[in-house]
Amino acid sequence: MENEVVSKNFIETEIDKDLAEGVYQTVHTRFPPEPNGYLHIGHAKSILLNYGLAKKYNGKFNMRFDDTNPTKERTEFVDAIKRDIQWLGADWEDRLFFASDYFPQMYEAAVKLIKKGKAYVCDLTAEEIREYRGTLKEPGKNSPYRDRTVEENLKLFEDMKNGVYQDGEKVLRAKIDMASPNMNMRDPVIYRVAHMSHHNTGDAWCIYPMYDFAHPIEDAIENITHSICTLEFEDHRPLYDWVVRELEYPHPPRQIEFAKLYLTNVVTGKRYIKKLVEDGVVDGWDDPRLVSIAALRRRGFTPESLQMFVELCGVAKGQSSVDYAMLEYCIREDLKMKRSRMMAVLDPIKLVIDNYPESEVEYLDAANNLENEALGTRRIPFCRELYIERDDFMEEPPKKYFRLFPGNEVRLMHAYFVKCESFVKDEDGKVVEVHCTYDPETRADSGFTGRKVKGTIHWVPAPHAVDAEVRLYENLIDEEKGVYNEDGSMNINPDSLKVVRAKLEPALQDVKAYDSFQFVRNGFFCVDAKDSREDALVFNRIVSLKSSFKLPK
Ligand code: ATP
Ligand code: MG
Repeated sequence: MENEVVSKNFIETEIDKDLAEGVYQTVHTRFPPEPNGYLHIGHAKSILLNYGLAKKYNGKFNMRFDDTNPTKERTEFVDAIKRDIQWLGADWEDRLFFASDYFPQMYEAAVKLIKKGKAYVCDLTAEEIREYRGTLKEPGKNSPYRDRTVEENLKLFEDMKNGVYQDGEKVLRAKIDMASPNMNMRDPVIYRVAHMSHHNTGDAWCIYPMYDFAHPIEDAIENITHSICTLEFEDHRPLYDWVVRELEYPHPPRQIEFAKLYLTNVVTGKRYIKKLVEDGVVDGWDDPRLVSIAALRRRGFTPESLQMFVELCGVAKGQSSVDYAMLEYCIREDLKMKRSRMMAVLDPIKLVIDNYPESEVEYLDAANNLENEALGTRRIPFCRELYIERDDFMEEPPKKYFRLFPGNEVRLMHAYFVKCESFVKDEDGKVVEVHCTYDPETRADSGFTGRKVKGTIHWVPAPHAVDAEVRLYENLIDEEKGVYNEDGSMNINPDSLKVVRAKLEPALQDVKAYDSFQFVRNGFFCVDAKDSREDALVFNRIVSLKSSFKLPK
């Protein structure tokens, strides 16, 4: 791919070292989403990073739903997540796993810790556990239940499993060190009682493992070598290592953290996207103004553009935000050679060519993409009545305005020169029709060089035009104010969606969902995959053509 970042990221450097030192013989990564929402652009980074590493080192990539928490997980999300990852092109082959399938092994692992004297059942309430934990400055105190015998612990833990206790009545804790400077090591809870149904295991269990205990076990069971996660887990790594060490896995996985991807003035957190959906600010998780993967796909982004974006972002240890403009840069780069450049008028006004015969129609050849001949040509009907953009005509033009105004001549793209002779206003003084004459000698394919004009405008033949509803998007967040207010509410831009009625050239008649095009001078547009109308096609604007974004050197 163009613009590929060739230097190694720090994770690759670590992997190289592990392989060279013989710590691991292969590379096996995984992507472990919790099925509690749709994936977003940040997850795309994690997916492509994990999958990319597996590919690069000829290793394997697992897909694993980290569904150990029964409260928020839904099958709807499982299906959506699979669809998104497949679309991105990350192939887990036959390795699709559910962490909840490992509940029996996790239970056995807990029993093993108890038998080793490394875990105990504790009766303190959640509140008391917090108090006993101490603070960053002060060590914690041992729980009065810390010295229960192995036999007693085994019996109590089994009773926990058998439903003898209510939620919160007892927990299983790792016996590590209440004085550790790392709070995560102060006898963390590893199993809790929760009388809740699970989307996969139903009512088989009423105890569930905590994330910090479950995750290393999942990785170890699957023979993961490099367990890549985001920075907030850095302080949990000693616990991760403790779990795999105490459980004596023969090939302990290694956790490596990298910085989350954040986009400037864009909502990425699952929790916040969920709120926008629930509050009806957007029309679902795939609203094209969001950066969920489903939304980006619906808007017209391609897997290749996201791949390019993730590569440009790089992988870092330090937290930073990336400008949304970089994402726009990537989709423009990806589409500019791949898509046909069509004519579409977003704010139509009639143009009448007074000296063109009334019932005549001629067909003009047009290249689909001047920079990519492989995209071929199409024929565009040309006749007396056309549509042009309203702002391509001005009654009283300012300096340097080279488009239509009384007395001025312009080129109609792929067609003829036309000269503005007059215009018609309605009773409110609004221009409703522009009248021109054309010069038959100036047809685009005639080789005419007699004179030059400064402006070229696009157009659509009126009788053949296809109607479309076009949705023009702006950032969902008011960029002046930033994403969040002090009270945690979001600064929503009231003008993030503008809907216009457009006229398209007839070649666009038979498009289907997700087809995308350049509409010359207006941007890249994609056929909406969710909404359809009887009377018009529905298009989303992916991105406009112009950008102030410059690729960092
Ligand atoms: P969110 O913070 O958006 O709710 P999450 O971390 O709760 O996301 P998970 O389903 O737990 O979502 O994440 C699955 C994987 O994706 C994890 O390995 C996580 O570290 C990674 N991930 C989540 N958000 C980002 C991000 N912004 N950038 C890079 N990786 C991310
Ligand atoms: Mg999470």
